[in-house]
Amino acid sequence: MKKIAAALATIIALSSCSTVSKHLAVNPSPQTEIVRKSEREGIKDLHRLVEEVTLEDAWVYIPQTEDWEDIGLEAKAEGDINSVELDVDKVKSLAMHYSRLHSWHIHTQKDSLRFYQSFLDHLPQGYTTETLRDFINADAAIPSSDDLTFSIYFSCLFDQTKKRDDRYLVASQYGVTEFKPLSSGLIFLCQSTSEDDLPTQANIFGRLATHQYHQKKMIKKIYAAVANETSAQLFENSFMTITFWPYAALPSDLK
Ligand SMILES: [Zn+2]
Repeated sequence: MKKIAAALATIIALSSCSTVSKHLAVNPSPQTEIVRKSEREGIKDLHRLVEEVTLEDAWVYIPQTEDWEDIGLEAKAEGDINSVELDVDKVKSLAMHYSRLHSWHIHTQKDSLRFYQSFLDHLPQGYTTETLRDFINADAAIPSSDDLTFSIYFSCLFDQTKKRDDRYLVASQYGVTEFKPLSSGLIFLCQSTSEDDLPTQANIFGRLATHQYHQKKMIKKIYAAVANETSAQLFENSFMTITFWPYAALPSDLK
């Protein structure tokens, strides 16, 4: 569940066989899909996908062109965990042309419910089916360690070359969550690690952050943000901040 299996070093670039579509869709094939629409309109598609589909997928939104490019190579379900391999070479190639990329992916409701199915079948003490579903929906708004790893990896890779303004976001049932790697806290990691070692080191930092999560507090903040239609800072340490917005109160800079 909510894992982006970023097979960071081993992905082979695909030949570009692009098609243009009207709506964002989960695309299980490695064929490239491009959708041209504003970020706000794309978020509506992502919200619909979160509710309708099972498989995860990932996209890069390019503010300069309003293009959404599918960067998931192959969406697949394996046991309890759905994952999507990312076309890292494609993201690198886009980054050479654009200084602002917004990396999006989805945590689908069906996947979340499937992950917690055994708890739904045997409700933990103090939960009703409804309150457990609320908990599951809120939990899906919390980025996984692989999500953080992906953002740290690209942050290091790109920041060394030029000034950039990239963002990393996930859409789930209740809203969107941004996980923001902080360059100031990653200087040592980025400067002292070779590109070959970067996936492993970024993974260590990703796991370090999720080990510092206080899940119950984060979920309470998400409930409050949804109820009050306001944003919530879910997490902060020296190299990562995580902020949640409900769909009713998306940030004005996601246009
Ligand atoms: Zn994720």
